[in-house]
Amino acid sequence: MTRITADVSFLRGYNQARVMALGRTVRTFERSTVVEATGLTPQAVSKVIGRLSADGLIRPAGVRRTGIGKPAVVYELVPDSRYAIGAHVARRTLRLVLVDLAGTVHHSAVSPLPGDFTPEQLLDALTAGIDAMTGSSDVRGRLTGVGIGMIGPLDHAHGLVRDAHGLRHWHDVPLREIAEKHLGLPVHLDKDVTAGITAEAWRHGATFGDAALIMIESGIGGGFWLGGTAHRGAHTNAGEFGHTVVDLNGPRCVCGRHGCLEIVHNQAAHAGDIDRAARVVAVGVVNLLQTLDLAHVVLAGADLLRHSRTYLAAVTEAVQADARRADWLTTKVTLSSLGADVIAAGAAMQVLDQHYGVPELAPA
Ligand SMILES: [Zn+2]
Repeated sequence: MTRITADVSFLRGYNQARVMALGRTVRTFERSTVVEATGLTPQAVSKVIGRLSADGLIRPAGVRRTGIGKPAVVYELVPDSRYAIGAHVARRTLRLVLVDLAGTVHHSAVSPLPGDFTPEQLLDALTAGIDAMTGSSDVRGRLTGVGIGMIGPLDHAHGLVRDAHGLRHWHDVPLREIAEKHLGLPVHLDKDVTAGITAEAWRHGATFGDAALIMIESGIGGGFWLGGTAHRGAHTNAGEFGHTVVDLNGPRCVCGRHGCLEIVHNQAAHAGDIDRAARVVAVGVVNLLQTLDLAHVVLAGADLLRHSRTYLAAVTEAVQADARRADWLTTKVTLSSLGADVIAAGAAMQVLDQHYGVPELAPA
């Protein structure tokens, strides 16, 4: 079964999206593979394969002789036929990556953003960064779009950045719309952590169960993968994990409440007590496991990765000691498989998923 969330008008048809989703999942395929996987007629599949080949998205990769009848043509995806740019907008930096149709990260670049940057300053930085990444190659013509993973609160459904914590110029900014106009490319806007968990799901394939990505970079957020898809919530604002309370009498947080995980963690981290900071995060992770029963917790974000061993040890220990007392309850804790690129790469993969179907999570 292949899940399809592609923008079908872009691919000129649902069936093309289904074949592309299959092509992005398996290394090679034949007409009969597609017939079996999709239930389409052989004639319909031939037509779709013809169109995708003409568009350069797939190509013949040889033949397979079966002994009887005509040999079957084997097809493969053309990874460099399409690219997407992924952007990770943090409070101090902009990270850009170039990702191909197969999900491979080709280039990664990070640049500083002005303090308390405005929407105009971000758009200028995006334009300059994308030009630098695509200017000297023929990649530009094969760009599908730009995915932006940004700090929240954020309304993914309407493409609006609501009052982003710690940034004064970001009150209900229609970033998706203004970025599309400014860049002349389709733009996909999502919360940073949701983009990140999408990249992890891509990397882990079918073995990826219900999971959370915990990111520490300026703030603390959590992205969720539940029931085989990214979970955004009723207002697409899920992920404000840093603003769950761990100390009723704790210090006042930027969000207005007292004792949020983020402010309690940051106070410890700023005082140089990383062990304590990691234990605060571990308490939050255990709270999540008790609530959601997750199979996998991924740790990410520049501030966390600087002390990755301390955080990994604290969270793993807490998960084993406090959350999983029965041996039938197991939760894997890992560091992000894409390191600091995970948010930007996930934002790019979301663009490719939207246009070319979500690849079936391949068996490991
Ligand atoms: Zn808070």
